[in-house]
Amino acid sequence: MPVKSPLDQLLYFLLGNKLSPYQYTHHAVLLVGGFGYLACSVFNYIFETADIILSYAQLALFVLIMGIWYRSRFHNQYRRMALIFMFLLVLVALPINWVYNAGLAGPTYFLNLCTLAYISVAFRDFGVYRKLGISLAVVIPLILMWLDLTHPELIFSYPDELTRALDLSFSFVVTAGLLLMMMGSYSRRYRLERDKAEHLADQLRILSEQDPLTGLHNRRAMDRYLDSLKGRGAVFSLAILDLDHFKKLNDRFGHSYGDEVLCFYSKELNRVALNNKGLAVRLGGEEFVLLLPMSEEQAVDQIQGLADALCENTLEHGAVTFSAGVVERHEGESRDLLMQRADHLLYAAKDAGRNRIFSQKQQYAETEKMAV
Ligand code: GH3
Ligand code: MG
Ligand code: MG
Repeated sequence: MPVKSPLDQLLYFLLGNKLSPYQYTHHAVLLVGGFGYLACSVFNYIFETADIILSYAQLALFVLIMGIWYRSRFHNQYRRMALIFMFLLVLVALPINWVYNAGLAGPTYFLNLCTLAYISVAFRDFGVYRKLGISLAVVIPLILMWLDLTHPELIFSYPDELTRALDLSFSFVVTAGLLLMMMGSYSRRYRLERDKAEHLADQLRILSEQDPLTGLHNRRAMDRYLDSLKGRGAVFSLAILDLDHFKKLNDRFGHSYGDEVLCFYSKELNRVALNNKGLAVRLGGEEFVLLLPMSEEQAVDQIQGLADALCENTLEHGAVTFSAGVVERHEGESRDLLMQRADHLLYAAKDAGRNRIFSQKQQYAETEKMAV
């Protein structure tokens, strides 16, 4: 685990885990919003830019929002607190702001728009509450606008144009900050979802290319591997291997013992593949393929080594043998033809009495005779 810098530690303490981007941003919005109200309260109090009641109301909002942040961050009440905050904002905070900050002539109009965007983005998982929040964030500013027209005496206006310009500038900066934070959280969430989807797609591909019993690659993986070698001109050989008299082994010692043998054999096969940067594949039943990036002679040596290792194995009912057909790929040769040639050699090895490795160039090399 990388060591967190003091800033990261502080951000974690204040905002929580970055892997929950909506919660993380929500906590940032609460803190920025809360301290924004505190700053406005102090600003209004000192410069007397609005009625004193507004200063007290903003101070009360600061305390409330801090309480919401505290319970959401440290008492695992993110959802409930987010909803309380949403209703507090659209039903209380913004209407108060509207009335005491010059209505349509003040900054509340774009704070309302910002709130609408925030509810729409950050409350994506809140179902009907999100719809309710959006509806309120649309309807309430419209009502307030009518209040502006019909009861202008209820709205507190600025003492002068400079105060209005200052208030508008301050609110604009806060709104811009909130919007940027929102976009940041949205794109962070998108990136996290995309990474998750890519990870799942990778896992799915691995599973779809894996044999469930032995964990080896399956035919689909082999086809993809062979396709990837197309046109590269690299030397490689393909071997088809088939266990000898496997049916008898199943009949005598049971299917689950047969499975055990298949797994043991697969492990050995995989070891050879990994040591040689190749691929071990279970085609089906007790038939396997080894793809090795080397010449036919070298591949035969490797497979002979595998046969020797199997003879010395510790299987409960004795060693098993296999027959194999090994071919080196010809330039431009199709997948099917390559398999056909190897298959042909495998059948020749079986016909010749099993426990043999047949290759094109070197007719065959006998593996040590160890039948079940
Ligand atoms: P040969 O030497 O000619 O290859 O004879 P064989 O008995 O090995 O070949 P055959 O194709 O006649 O039999 C293959 C057997 O493999 C038949 C089937 O029951 C068994 N088999 C196929 N898949 C599995 C499996 O997943 N687990 C087990 N235990 N047996 C399997
Ligand atoms: Mg067999
Ligand atoms: Mg078979």
